[in-house]
Order: sequence, then structure tokens, then C-alpha cells
Amino acid sequence: MRANPVDYELVAPGSLSAVVSLLAQQPGQWLPVAGGTDVMVQYAAGKLAARKLVSLWNLPELRRIEVSDTEVTIGAACTYTDVREYAVIAQGFPLLAAAASWTGGIANQNRGTLGGNIVNASPAADSLPALLIYAAELILISARGERRVPYTSFHIGYKKMLLAPDELIRAICLPRRFSGYISYSRKVGARNAQAISKVCVAAIGQLVDGVANDVRIAAGSVAPIPIRLRATERLVEGKVVNTDLIQRVRPAAISEVRPIDDIRSTAAYRSAVLGNLVAEFLQQLAAAGASTVLARWNALSPEQAAEQILPCCGSSAWARRLSALRPLHEEGALFSASDEIWNQLQPSDWREAFSKHPRIGESKVPAAASSQSAKWSAKEQNGVGAAAESVQQALAAANREYERLFGRVFIVCATGKSAEEMLNILRQRMQNDDATEFQAAAQEQRKITNLRLKKWLNP
Ligand SMILES: Cc1cc2nc3c(=O)[nH]c(=O)nc-3n(C[C@H](O)[C@H](O)[C@H](O)COP(=O)(O)OP(=O)(O)OC[C@H]3O[C@@H](n4cnc5c(N)ncnc54)[C@H](O)[C@@H]3O)c2cc1C
Repeated sequence: MRANPVDYELVAPGSLSAVVSLLAQQPGQWLPVAGGTDVMVQYAAGKLAARKLVSLWNLPELRRIEVSDTEVTIGAACTYTDVREYAVIAQGFPLLAAAASWTGGIANQNRGTLGGNIVNASPAADSLPALLIYAAELILISARGERRVPYTSFHIGYKKMLLAPDELIRAICLPRRFSGYISYSRKVGARNAQAISKVCVAAIGQLVDGVANDVRIAAGSVAPIPIRLRATERLVEGKVVNTDLIQRVRPAAISEVRPIDDIRSTAAYRSAVLGNLVAEFLQQLAAAGASTVLARWNALSPEQAAEQILPCCGSSAWARRLSALRPLHEEGALFSASDEIWNQLQPSDWREAFSKHPRIGESKVPAAASSQSAKWSAKEQNGVGAAAESVQQALAAANREYERLFGRVFIVCATGKSAEEMLNILRQRMQNDDATEFQAAAQEQRKITNLRLKKWLNP
């Protein structure tokens, strides 16, 4: 049942020191109210146990944002509007600025504060994953003085935290060491605005020499408190981010969270979405790596650029024409240009590309093939090594027969195929007339080129 407003006492001492001494005189008796966007919801629902309220609203000491060379210090009573409009935060801590921009509507952003979000301690709170990612530290103040605690250790269980009854959060400090990171954040709710998250993920990472570095992933609404996915981070750290890794990461991320069924969603849905969001982050990280490779390639001389990309296809004309189309800034543009050029080449250019491949089942690569092409061929033909001796012999015989018929090596996109599958394809294709078979080989070469371009972009 809702209490009568006259049952409540609200004071506004007007300075931080006055509030702190009030809390010291009667610890646990006074409930601080900043923007009131959580407290007033509790009041309206008749669930506000505290009767004595002390206002933190507009205390100048809690409303400042200070910037030094090493950190940004955000007063705990800064609102979401203060946070998202502050250029240094938007540039250096985009995950926090994004969370501020989708926390409730504009009215809520003008009133709700960062300190209130932390102490309200909802597992679905939007700003908290960003604070985990950016290694935030909290300055807590009381009449006894100040102490600084890492935010990671502040929440210790559902709505439980290391805040004494006479303490306030004075400020949130963010170290300025995350520039140049790829950032990712997604909030999945019933709708884009004014919805509480079913799942939210904030993540950052870098690619250094093609491998993932300092990957940090945090999630909300999937455990009693927002959490870092540390095992998942370790799995990714130091690795090339490719499809294989992303497939392994998805279940690893899901196994780290403990979502529940509630009014907003189900545990199963939350787990599935979390896996998808973490995978999406890694795809973006990989794409950023690909654009770095492209940027470097765009800067090469035409000869160097053609030489570097040649092993993906094997045709010198294809490599020359593709490098002449630079700058190519996006993966998609590279793939379409490659396909288009390939389809327009002369038969002699196609033959040149075919001639760089070893026979299926043979490790010996032609002299014309580059060492990179040889390495890729060996991986592409992984499936053959495990085949029975009889299958390998049958493949060798079929290869010889194919070459006698068509006068060139048999080309098939070997990735993911067993020796038996390739033997069947080889035998079927020997039924083709020369022109049909030449086209079939060219299409297989096109698939090989696309797979190799992907590997080249994500080394
Ligand atoms: C319509 C609406 C939409 C919302 N949408 C979202 C959303 O999308 N995402 C989201 O995360 N939240 C959302 N919220 C929740 C709320 O707006 C946030 O949690 C907000 O940050 C709370 O801040 P406040 O200043 O209003 O907190 P208050 O209500 O003033 O206080 C909340 C708690 O924090 C304590 N407190 C506040 N400041 C301090 C301090 N400096 N030191 C110690 N204790 C302190 C108070 O004692 C109280 O226990 C929404 C709320 C509403 C009403």
C-alpha cells in the first residue's frame, strides 16, 4: 500500500559535506536521492521502505566532469545527458556514451544519473557493462574520508555492493587507455527506446599483427550482476579471429552466463542472443582487421599489390587488373571486382591459374606456385590425408586419366571435401565435353579464389 507523502521527510542540505555529515550522524537512516528515477518508481509502487530522503540533485561537487592526461572523472550525479554530450567521453569511451543514449527516453536521460544506475544495481542496467569494460574505479566518500575501489569488485551479488550505510559514490574514474580499440555494444529489448534490456553486450578489442589483443567482453541481464566473460576473452586472446574461432566462442560465451526466465524473456532466448551478440562483435573485429589489410594493400605500388594478391588466384592478369582497381576499401567491393575480372579473363589466363595447383591427393606443388599458394593448397586438401590407401590410388589414377582427356590438372574446390567426395566429382566431370569441363573448372577456381581472399584478409 502506498504511504502518505506526509510520512516522508526530504531534505536538501545543498553541499556534499553537509550530506556526508548527515549520513554519518544517522548511518542507514537517510536514503540518498539523485535523479529519483528509480526511487520514485519504488515510491509509486508503495515499495519505498526509507522514510528519510536526502537529495543529491545538483550538488556541484557531484555534477562535474574532470579530464586529466590519464583519466576522466565523472561526478556520480552527472546525468545521462551530461555523459553523452561530453565530447571526451563520446570519443574515448563510446560504449558509455552509447549506453547513456539508450537509457530510457530523453526525460529520463535528463534526470537519471550514473551513480544512481550503479547503486540501483539492476542486472539489466545499461551503463554497467561499459564500466566493467573500461576498468572504471569508484571514489566513495563518507565523513571518514574517501576510498577508491575498482568497479569490478563493487557489486558482489544481486543488489549487494561494497557501500557502507554512511557512504556515497562521489565519482566514477575511467582510465584514458582505450583509444584505437574496436568498440561494439548492443542492447536487445522489446523495442529500441524505453525498454529494459533482455540482454546487453559491450565489448572492445584490438587486432595486433592480425591477432586479437586485449579483448574485453561484458554482458548485462544474463546473471545476478553485469559480468565480464573472462573465459571467453581468454579463448579469443592472441588468436586469429576467423569463422572457426567464432564457432568455438559462441558456446563458450553461453556457458559463462546464468540467465533466468522472467517477465521480459526466457533464459534460453537470452543465452542464444548472447551467443549471437558475442559472435557479431568478433565478426566486426575480424572485418576491422580485413580493412587494415586492404588499407595496407591499397598503399602498395601496382606491381607489389599484384604480386601480393596473386597467390589467391594464380592468374597474373587477374592480379594486375584487380590491383589497378584500387583503392578498394571494403571486403564486398574486393569480392565483386574479383568475380567480375575472373569471368572476363581469356582461356589462357584461366589455364595459368589452374597450372598453380597440385594434383588432388598429391603434395608436390608445381614450380610456378608461390610458397603461399602451396601452403593454402596443403590446407585445402586436408581431407585427402585421412583417406584409405585404395582411395588415394584411385584418385591418382583418375587424375592421370583426367589429364590425358583434357590436357590440364583437375580443379575442384577441395575445402571441406573428403577424398571419396572428390573422387566421385572427378569421375562425374570426366563425362563432360571439353568446353563444359573448362567452365566447371573455372567456377571451381572462382570458389577457391574467394576462400583464399578471405584467408588473405584475415591472416
Ligand atoms: C521510464 C524509465 C526508463 C528507464 N530506462 C532505463 C534503461 O533503459 N536502462 C537503465 O539502465 N535504467 C533505466 N531506468 C532506471 C533509472 O533511470 C537508472 O537506473 C538511473 O540511472 C537511476 O539514477 P537516478 O539518479 O535517478 O537514481 P535514484 O532513483 O535517485 O537512486 C537510485 C538508487 O541509487 C542511490 N544513489 C543515487 N546516487 C547515489 C550516490 N551518488 N551514492 C550512493 N547512492 C546513490 C539511491 O539511494 C537509490 O538507492 C529507467 C527508469 C525509468 C523511470
